[in-house]
Parts: sequence; C-alpha cells; structure tokens
Amino acid sequence: MNEALLKISEIFRSIQGESSYAGWPCAFIRLAGCSHNCRYCDSLYARNTEERLTTGEVVSRALALKTEIIEITGGEPLEQPGVHQLMTELCNTGRKVLLETGGFIPVAGIDPRVHKIIDLKPPSSGESGKNCMENITLAFKAGKELQKSFEFKMVVADRNDYLWSRDLLRMHPLQKSCTVLMGVVAGELAPAQLADWILEDGLRVRMQLQLHKLLWPERTRGA
Ligand code: SF4
Repeated sequence: MNEALLKISEIFRSIQGESSYAGWPCAFIRLAGCSHNCRYCDSLYARNTEERLTTGEVVSRALALKTEIIEITGGEPLEQPGVHQLMTELCNTGRKVLLETGGFIPVAGIDPRVHKIIDLKPPSSGESGKNCMENITLAFKAGKELQKSFEFKMVVADRNDYLWSRDLLRMHPLQKSCTVLMGVVAGELAPAQLADWILEDGLRVRMQLQLHKLLWPERTRGA
C-alpha cells in the first residue's frame, strides 16, 4: 500500500491535558488545516502546514518521543483522508492512540483500537449548528466494549453553554455509557462556577481543567 502524505503542523511531546488520559506523557501529532471557525480556537496556527510527511515518517517521529500514548490532534485531523492509515499504523506499534476531533465529522470507519475524544461544541463556539450528531448515535450503537473508546468533551464559556450541554445530555444520556468531560473556556468562566452547576444538577460528567494550560500558561504551541 502506498504511504499517504499528511500535512503536519507540529509533532511534540507534552503532558496530555484534556481527556481521561490527562496527566500522562504523550506524543502529539498535530495535523494542519481546519475548515471551521470556533470562536475560542487556541490552535489557529495549525491552519498552516509546516511539513508534508508520509505516514511512515510521522510514525517514526512520534515513536522517537518515547511515550506510551500518542495523540493525533489538529486543526481538524479527520479532514485529511490519510489520517486513517496513520491511525492504523500507530495502533500497530502497540501504543495507545488517541484521536482528538472537533466533532464535525463522523468517526465511523476509524480503527476500533483508537480512543476517540469528540467535541460537542456549545453555542458560544459559533459552530454548534455543525455538531455531527451521528457521532452520538455511533457511540450508542457501539456496544459495551467499544463504547469505552468513545469520549465526549464539552467546553463551556457561560451559563447558556452549560444549559445547552446539560439539556443535550438529558436528551441523549451519553454519560451512562461513555465518559463525558466538561470544562471551561479558559478566562471566560470560573471553574468553581461550573463545578457548582454540575453538582447542583447532579450531572454525571467528569469535570476537567486544561492541565497543559495550567502547567505552561505562556506557551502558545507545543503544549
Ligand atoms: S475545530 Fe478545533 S481547530 Fe478547528 S476551529 Fe474549532 S477549535 Fe479550532
């Protein structure tokens, strides 16, 4: 099989900061490009392609960082068809492979060994109308074992975002079968306020703060 060519923004090692794997050393492969415009996007620089590498070259670079976990992120990684070949090649190395996606594209057809972290964008993102609701259906239909490889993430900026998230979970109780993460847009909502709302409503979600931003608040990339 010919190796796919991928547009890459950066490949680096850091601490996983935003999932149930938060806290573990992790190699990140940031694919370049995203056709969306989330208001609080913190990786706009990933729109630019810094390198074009084959899947084999990407795998070598990631393995050289010597971590047990490798995450593919972006930009929007699912916009590059070659990412599927990359995910399978990374899984074949025996590492734990995470995929972080903005949640606008179906995750159907992804190598089942990949742990999928899927955003559900609330209204203040400006892009919530584009959420791929099919991903919720896919998670429900996945079956008990495969459901463990689905994780949904909601990042809220205000009360309206919180209520949207809460009501979505009441309508589609993902939290009964998958991990649902909820956090704040840094600098826009006090984490303690979100914690109070979660406790008041008895939501079965896992609250998280963006660990990499707490560790390295000055870093604008490579974190
Ligand atoms: S999907 Fe991700 S990379 Fe794309 S604009 Fe939204 S936050 Fe930024």
